Parts: sequence; C-alpha cells; structure tokens
Amino acid sequence: YRSVVRDAVCPGSRPHYAGYVCWRGNFDARLLDGLGDADVWPSDAVTTVCFPGGSCVVYRIPGPDGTRVNWVLYAVPPRSGNLRLDDPTSFPPGRLTTELADGLAELLAREFPPYWARLLALTPPEDTFVQPIYDLETARTTAGRLLLAGDAATVVRPHNTSGAAKALQDAAAFASAWSAAASWDELLHAYQEARGAAGRELVALARRLGRAQVERTPDWAAMGRGEAEAWWQGQLGGAAGIGGQAMAPAP
Ligand SMILES: Cc1cc2nc3c(=O)[nH]c(=O)nc-3n(C[C@H](O)[C@H](O)[C@H](O)COP(=O)(O)OP(=O)(O)OC[C@H]3O[C@@H](n4cnc5c(N)ncnc54)[C@H](O)[C@@H]3O)c2cc1C
Repeated sequence: YRSVVRDAVCPGSRPHYAGYVCWRGNFDARLLDGLGDADVWPSDAVTTVCFPGGSCVVYRIPGPDGTRVNWVLYAVPPRSGNLRLDDPTSFPPGRLTTELADGLAELLAREFPPYWARLLALTPPEDTFVQPIYDLETARTTAGRLLLAGDAATVVRPHNTSGAAKALQDAAAFASAWSAAASWDELLHAYQEARGAAGRELVALARRLGRAQVERTPDWAAMGRGEAEAWWQGQLGGAAGIGGQAMAPAP
C-alpha cells in the first residue's frame, strides 16, 4: 500500500486517512475458560459488538497451536497532538503507543458489555496492534509498460475483507490478458478494462460500510432483527462477491 511504482502510473495519488483506526489482537482460545460465562459466546458464533461511533468483530481463527480468538475494533482514536496518521502508517505489535493503549482501555470501559471488555483485554498491550484506515483509488492502473495490482492499485478499508482475493483476481486478470494479447498495449488495455472498475467499486463499498459501521452508526440498540438485516443489506447495495467478482466453486 506504500507502492513507489504507483506514483509513476498515477502521479500524486496516495492513500487518504479515513478518520478512524482499528485496534486488533488475538489470543489462545483456551484463555476463554478463565472468563466464565461459557454460554455467552457459542463456539461457532462470529459476534459484532456495536456502540456509538464504532463496532468490533470477534471470531475464532486457526492458529499454529490450536484455535485463537481474533478481534478487530473500529473507532476514532484519542485526539492528541502526537498521533500522525495522514501519511500511511501502522503500529505493529510491540509498537502501540501509550495513548493508543489507554484509548482502547477507556473505550472498553465506556462502551463495552463487561464480558466483551474482559475478552478483548485477554490480549496484552504488547500484542495489540493498530491499523489506521485509508482509502485509495487510482484513476488508472496502467501506464506505458507499468501495471498496478493489489494494494498498489487500490487500498480498501478492511470492512470488505476483500484485499487478498482482490489482489489474486488482479493477478489472474493479468495472466488472462497476457495469454490473449498480441502487444503490450492490448495487454494493458484488457487488464484496465477487467480490473479498473472492480477496484473502484470495492473502495466505494468499503466507504459505505465504514460510514455505516463507524462514522455514522445507527441507534443499534433500537433495532430489531429484521431492521438490522434490512440495514445490513442496504449497506451492501447489491455488491458483487468478494474481490469485485462473485466467487463460484470450481465446476
Ligand atoms: C492487519 C491486516 C489484516 C488484513 N486482513 C485481511 C483479511 O482478513 N482478508 C483480506 O482479504 N485481506 C486482508 N488484509 C489485506 C491484505 O493483506 C492485502 O490487501 C493484500 O495482502 C494485498 O496484496 P498485495 O500483493 O497487493 O500486497 P502485499 O501483500 O503488501 O505484498 C507486497 C509485497 O511486496 C514486498 N515489497 C515491497 N517493496 C518491495 C521492493 N522494493 N522490492 C521487493 N519487494 C517489495 C513487500 O515486502 C510485500 O511482501 C489485511 C491487511 C492487514 C494489514
């Protein structure tokens, strides 16, 4: 996402800070035993904790030593003069600043139901990391003999969880264009046709999801199940599958 080639294809285009970050962490699922209330979180559930100005997704993932619990919490970071987020940056594990660690602790205490606050706190600050959220779309993905793919071409907010699939689909489109083209011009034209709009649509979808789930959150607590479902479908707006095209099982 910090591509230097991008500037040669689209001079001046750079990721723009969306105004919020996500705190992320994961821990050994066996630690859940110490929380008690085992029936609060069924083992097959993916849970979203909603609060004014943000949301947090909690789910289990496979890890090298067994199941882990992964969580991703979106919210506006503490306002202070020390955080510089306009240039694309990140705070990997071990580099979390005190203000970001304190900001998380305050948020958990203020907004989270006790079970979920205790669950997130099972990740110690030294393992917690922060990803500031950026948007980037490029007006074109090719120039001369250069071609942008993956995060170099578009940076999509994580709400879509589409970055990896989109990068693979860019590579597949490049391979198809390569085998069909008789010249560089034909190749780059076919690639731009196949992937230019797909990238921009993913950025737009992620912006919509980010606005709905973080920047302009609804009155979650007032929603019933049907309203929540309709609200969710409204955000998706009939979007295509992950990566900009529907993923179908192999025939
Ligand atoms: C914390 C986090 C969680 C994510 N979770 C998900 C998820 O759940 N699902 C999902 O779909 N996507 C997820 N993404 C997004 C996904 O990781 C990216 O969209 C995807 O990796 C982009 O692929 P890429 O090949 O374009 O770039 P990258 O994966 O960034 O690969 C670029 C590579 O180029 C290398 N490189 C850079 N400069 C040079 C150089 N000068 N010479 C040689 N090599 C160089 C880098 O080291 C890197 O290996 C996540 C991203 C982050 C940061």
